[in-house]
Amino acid sequence: MKKQYTYGPVPSRRLGFSLGVDLIPFKTCSFDCIYCQCGKTTNKTCERKEYHPTQKILDEVAQALKENEHIDYITFSGSGEPTLHSRIGYLIKATKKITDIPVAVLTNGSLLHRQDVQNELSYADVVAPTLCTADKETFSQINRCHANITLDEIIHGLISFRKRFKGQLWLEIVFVKNLNDSDEELNKLKSIIDQINPDKVHINTVVRPPSEKSAQPISSGKMQEIKNMLGKKAEIVAHFTKDALSVGHIAETEQQILNIIERRPVTLEDIQHISGLHRHEIIKYLDTLKVNKKIQMTEHDGHQYYEHREGA
Ligand code: SF4
Repeated sequence: MKKQYTYGPVPSRRLGFSLGVDLIPFKTCSFDCIYCQCGKTTNKTCERKEYHPTQKILDEVAQALKENEHIDYITFSGSGEPTLHSRIGYLIKATKKITDIPVAVLTNGSLLHRQDVQNELSYADVVAPTLCTADKETFSQINRCHANITLDEIIHGLISFRKRFKGQLWLEIVFVKNLNDSDEELNKLKSIIDQINPDKVHINTVVRPPSEKSAQPISSGKMQEIKNMLGKKAEIVAHFTKDALSVGHIAETEQQILNIIERRPVTLEDIQHISGLHRHEIIKYLDTLKVNKKIQMTEHDGHQYYEHREGA
């Protein structure tokens, strides 16, 4: 059965071997972040509806569970914001009826102030929202959200969801050089994080080709400085280790992507077209291939290309 709504399991920096479940069509989101790895948002919306058919998603999840022994998390994400899917709560509950594998939801947190969204996400084991800043101006520069959403609502939503959510709340901060990495930004953010009281704070930066070229990463030294400042819950999101990739189909898929890149420089869309793999799955493998210095990126005519690295 050709997979439309699930991909992987892929090696995830935060979730081990993660079976991805894509609830939303490309690229539908309430934000249009300048660092987004998926490119520009083409459908900026706050409307909740059944974007992909619920039963078909569930059938694919059940099939993927039969086909794969090693899955650490089932991760609801998407080519956009997964809480826009109006049946995400039912999907989480139905998934948990057929497996003991924990369910994680990656969200931008924009709808967490809504009671229906809070209710639905309360069935998950892990909810991982992103919050990059506590400053309205910086928020509009980085996240470029839908006109109906405010930063205050998002922060209040996070604080109130934390109070009722029994699972793990992992807050992710994506740092963009010269935008949200000043001392003033960090002090404001720290005070909001203390109010939210997440279980973990994941420090991340722009590691993949961003939607806007202006979105540049901060240095690893700066990440360490921020980690020290944010305290013991803070972790720098590490790359997946090379050894883990020796597991069965993970190594085969990595080799399949490497074979495509070795023939000629290709874009992400070329790899997607040739391999038939989901773009999120390909992105994960490109990460590890870059870290392990097997490929490099070049730019031509405004497009990012992946090519074999000399001597690899
Ligand atoms: S919230 Fe996520 S999917 Fe939406 S634009 Fe930002 S990074 Fe991309």
